[in-house]
Amino acid sequence: MTTSAQYVYTFAEGSRDMAALLGGKGAGLAEMTRLGLPVPPGFTITADACRVYLATGQEPSGMGLQAAHALAELETAMGRSLGGPDDPLLVSVRSGARFSMPGMMETILDVGLNDRSVTGLAKVSGDERFAWDSYRRLVQMFGHTVMGVDGELFDRALADHKARRGASGDHELDAGELILLTDEYKDLVRAQTGEDFPQDPEEQLARAVRAVFDSWNAERARIYRRREHIPEDLGTAVNIQAMVFGNLGHDSGTGVAFTRDPATGERGVYGDYLPDAQGEDVVAGVRDALPLTELKRIDRGVYAELGDHLRTLEGHYRDLCDVEFTVERGKLWILQTRVGKRTAEAAFRIAHDLCRENVITADDALHRVDGTALTRLMFPRFDTGSGDRPLAHGVPASPGAAVGVAVFDSAEAVRRAAAGDRTVLVRRETTADDLPGMIAAQAVLTSRGGKTSHAAVVARGMGKVCVCGAEGLIVDTEARLFTTSSGVTVREGDTLSVDGTAGTVHRGALPLTASDVGRTLQTGTATDALTGAVLATLAHADEVRRLQVRANADTPEDATRARALGAQGIGLVRTEHMFLGERRPLIEAMILADDDTARDSALAALLPLQRADFTGILAAMDGLPVTVRLIDPPLHEFLPDHVDLAVRLARAAHPDPRDRALLDAVERMHEQNPMLGLRGVRLALTVPGLTAMQVRAIAEAVVSRLRDGGQPYAEIMIPLVGTVEELRLARAETERVLSEVSAETGTPLSCPIGTMIELPRAALTAGRIAEAADFFSFGTNDLTQTTWGLSRDDAEASFFPRYLERGVFPVSPFETIDRDGVGRLVELAVAEGRAARPGLETGICGEHGGDPDSIHFFHRAGLDYVSCSPFRIPAARLEAGRAALPEPADASETR
Ligand code: ADP
Ligand code: MG
Ligand code: MG
Repeated sequence: MTTSAQYVYTFAEGSRDMAALLGGKGAGLAEMTRLGLPVPPGFTITADACRVYLATGQEPSGMGLQAAHALAELETAMGRSLGGPDDPLLVSVRSGARFSMPGMMETILDVGLNDRSVTGLAKVSGDERFAWDSYRRLVQMFGHTVMGVDGELFDRALADHKARRGASGDHELDAGELILLTDEYKDLVRAQTGEDFPQDPEEQLARAVRAVFDSWNAERARIYRRREHIPEDLGTAVNIQAMVFGNLGHDSGTGVAFTRDPATGERGVYGDYLPDAQGEDVVAGVRDALPLTELKRIDRGVYAELGDHLRTLEGHYRDLCDVEFTVERGKLWILQTRVGKRTAEAAFRIAHDLCRENVITADDALHRVDGTALTRLMFPRFDTGSGDRPLAHGVPASPGAAVGVAVFDSAEAVRRAAAGDRTVLVRRETTADDLPGMIAAQAVLTSRGGKTSHAAVVARGMGKVCVCGAEGLIVDTEARLFTTSSGVTVREGDTLSVDGTAGTVHRGALPLTASDVGRTLQTGTATDALTGAVLATLAHADEVRRLQVRANADTPEDATRARALGAQGIGLVRTEHMFLGERRPLIEAMILADDDTARDSALAALLPLQRADFTGILAAMDGLPVTVRLIDPPLHEFLPDHVDLAVRLARAAHPDPRDRALLDAVERMHEQNPMLGLRGVRLALTVPGLTAMQVRAIAEAVVSRLRDGGQPYAEIMIPLVGTVEELRLARAETERVLSEVSAETGTPLSCPIGTMIELPRAALTAGRIAEAADFFSFGTNDLTQTTWGLSRDDAEASFFPRYLERGVFPVSPFETIDRDGVGRLVELAVAEGRAARPGLETGICGEHGGDPDSIHFFHRAGLDYVSCSPFRIPAARLEAGRAALPEPADASETR
């Protein structure tokens, strides 16, 4: 006899550690069951079973039998049978993957109702209206989800009935009306599918389970996964759970509660409650929910019990939890819990508060925040002093300031975003179908729903600004406009400012001002709870991190700002930025020089300017290392555009001979592939005098700083080296100039000379190159381009969007280091470089130096520092700290 794998677990068998198998929802239900919370019983079909189904089109053998067995057990425990005619057991069939994907997959409620059991349910509940309301919900959900009927058709039928009765909400429809509506729904199903709504409860259950499996691959679920970097192959578990009913009248209801405010992190219980309703009504925003505190008035006992459970859960999970609950005739049931999604602000405050409450350690607190969230907090906010009267107030569901033009559907948001516009997506409420538009827009504004509506939950997860339930807004999607309670009309294309922190909407573009967090990071003084939490967490990151953080900065101003933000030096000064603007004619003169004298005088004119640049930067970074890269880009980048020149020459009555010479030079220097052309060290070896001038400028700047009593630590970096021979030659010249300046000034100069590793050949021959290099700095932008054989700008403008869409890579290798390819080159170069020269200093100065995920890689690869744009430094410090922490036992829950 072969025993098949276990595909079905009762809630009593599972636990929180089993999220990979049972999904987050299943693991949460099991954990709450173990804790003795009032959870309706049920069982979970594993994600393994789903994976088999998705791969083969069939449920794994054994699953059916195990599920039937678990159902029989559930029926015995409940003393009722699924869809039984007199007193039916009804169940919900709920999706639930490893990582929370709110509303992205399907859940079907009230499975087990049919033409007979509905009357049984009416009788035992003594509530005919309730029974038919449940049945029509089942036909609607099942018809749409399992049988593929357009959901609009059901909505329209419901709207017709409401209109006929003059009812404003569906709870005003009486039993008779609901019976008619259910019949209509069933006719709809038959007309649309050629099949009757299935009456057999077991068939309903089996098909619902399969539909949940299938919903893993629904378009919106795929989009969500891509955005959240959730792997495609996890599959979803399915939870089958006895139904409890919140739609049994005024002593029933349903809601969502948080143990702390997910928007601000404030302590205390938050949430929404909707009397006489089933769970999905809260999320869908069919009626405006009441604030949770109203439940205290409605049912003190239930409110107190809920509070106890919330405290139990927060204590147990040691984090903000949210729960879905239902009250059935005065009895409280908990239907879901998870470590709740939160805003960046809430993440910092909650982690810091829990640490101060001794619930978690400082390491844990650091683990719970991330660099992306910190960067988000540094974004500017609206200037509250502007005194502008808002158009509307709503729920501040996801904080931040956003300006964009109003659009009224997802497609338009996507279209405009593609054209480079910033938009505000305005909807009555959002559903999963609005996801592409929410991703494309800067902010989301809805006229319905509270803090737990779809719009709020999804926007918070994405870090998008969101105001929902904006009072008095009448959104007319067809006419593409909304009107406010004071009669103002806003049309598609009008500019709006949405303040997700205050919950207000304004016409036009409001002025922006620096964020408190941004300011605090520069001053080092906290001004409120949030800035205090940020500083404390960063201080801990600084304590535990091994990686140093430097800045990429080309001016004294940038260097000063970077230093205030915590930079421990400069990892990359791009000298070519110093040849732009007014200095262009000087470099043009150098390029055009046809003899040594002309060239020397052009270089001599550049020398004092460069020296002043370096002196300023060394002063701003006094006492800290400053790595200066010698000129890197092809020289023709400093010349005017070919077409402009040609036109200018053609138009001029008396052509300027200098223009003619420039045109000749441009034509002579033209390259098919400038990225792979005469640049980097190749310039140093072929353009006489250029390197010498730059090195002299650096050396003289060091001397002048020393004379002023400073502590200058310049490091000279040679770019684009492919072979050690190039480096040897460039190094020899650099050393010659250094000793010249040293002799002239009588100042001993010891200046490390190193190289960029940005060509695969450099990485592969790092052992040789290290013989001539005092340090390595990985130029991961070029290294990515040359490893992949593509030019970033071209690729991003042409095929990258398609590549991302088709999942060739989950994220651009220019954003996050490609560990398997480029990353291996880095690791190899570090290992062989250090073997050849023990203690060789290594760093990274590509864009990846500020990318959270990449920083973890660089930590593990053993680099000494990362270098990034000044504004990314706080995030880099934070991530470097996180990278140094040991993996926490409950890492899975931080997602
Ligand atoms: P989602 O993942 O979209 O939140 P859920 O599986 O949680 O989907 O279910 C949708 C809604 O139905 C939720 O509000 C949930 O609380 C409610 N619900 C699910 N199962 C039951 C049940 N057994 N009894 C009553 N309500 C339920
Ligand atoms: Mg749920
Ligand atoms: Mg480069």
